[in-house]
Amino acid sequence: MNGKIHSFESLGAVDGPGIRFVIFMQGCALKCEYCQNRDTWNLHGGIEYSADEVLEKILKYKNYIMPHRRCYH
Ligand code: SF4
Repeated sequence: MNGKIHSFESLGAVDGPGIRFVIFMQGCALKCEYCQNRDTWNLHGGIEYSADEVLEKILKYKNYIMPHRRCYH
């Protein structure tokens, strides 16, 4: 399976609790009025990645994003 990716954020901390690997997909026709990612709308932009390629990128950061690494004190 392949998909068009706009960008990756390796250590995202602003889109929810904790630290996560964020994948911004490319191509959106909804055009929501308050969209914060209008640069992802272009249906012809982005770079095509396979699911395996994306997983390979995510696994490089697993030590930072896995739940057992969090401190709840
Ligand atoms: S917020 Fe932006 S990217 Fe998300 S569905 Fe709406 S227009 Fe598309």
